[in-house]
Amino acid sequence: MPNYDSPRKQKAAAEYKARIAEAKRKDREREEGGFSERVIAVRMPNWKDDEKRTLRIIPAREAMRFYLDNADDEDAVFDDEAYPVQEMCTHFKVGAKKGIIPCASFYNDEPCAVDDEIKELFASGDEDDAKYAKAMYGGHRFARFVLWRGNPKNEPNKVWAWEMSKTVDTDVIALYMDTKIKDLDMMWEGMDIDVTRNGMGQENTKYQVKDVREESYMVATEDGEFDYEAAEKIYANLPDIFEYNTPFMTYDEVKKVVNGMSVKEVMKERHNDEEAKPEAKEEKPKRGRGRGTK
Ligand SMILES: [Zn+2]
Repeated sequence: MPNYDSPRKQKAAAEYKARIAEAKRKDREREEGGFSERVIAVRMPNWKDDEKRTLRIIPAREAMRFYLDNADDEDAVFDDEAYPVQEMCTHFKVGAKKGIIPCASFYNDEPCAVDDEIKELFASGDEDDAKYAKAMYGGHRFARFVLWRGNPKNEPNKVWAWEMSKTVDTDVIALYMDTKIKDLDMMWEGMDIDVTRNGMGQENTKYQVKDVREESYMVATEDGEFDYEAAEKIYANLPDIFEYNTPFMTYDEVKKVVNGMSVKEVMKERHNDEEAKPEAKEEKPKRGRGRGTK
């Protein structure tokens, strides 16, 4: 185990309170909603053919906080369930502008305007309608937050969202099940993984997921010590994985995307509305639900 009483650690401890306050402030912002204020990890761009990326899975937010706070205690075990993975259900190609919409019925068990549209299209009995409905079906995918070693922007501590298919998720889980290696996302004894893409196109693309067979720190200083400062930075920018890709539009707003507007246009409209109505409460016809009407 490394020596945690380095000056670096003490410096990190001194800044600790300020960082916690900052993280809490960001949490509050997130809770208050608002599209533009949402802190969302940047989605990793798609792999090119034959491209290999070395990634490090970041632990779940609560687990990361716990282990940083208990770094001196080797026996400390975070015993809450906190898996650093989010299952997602997303509608692609919604409406004329091909909007990407998280499915409200999947996440919140609420009516989803895209699901309703799909039902209607199938009910029409028209072949083209059925084709369009199929294109909008919700696809199940998974997301993990990762560090991307040697990424093109040269940002070693940036939090990226790695979205993957069920097949790739299964491969990642297989590595977790492998008793020869420690859990991948452990900060001190975890392991990087190499993810290689081979082939292009929906049918031919394969991803190979391999552990690098060597334990390493999630972040290390030039001297090879655990980098607390970097870890705190990552923590401050780490959203709750369960918030990733969750619905942010009301039923009526999604309906507008179904009917041809882009997601951007709808969100712009929301913000214009919010600015335009100071205190005059307009009686709006109550259709749908959500935070749009206050
Ligand atoms: Zn849906």
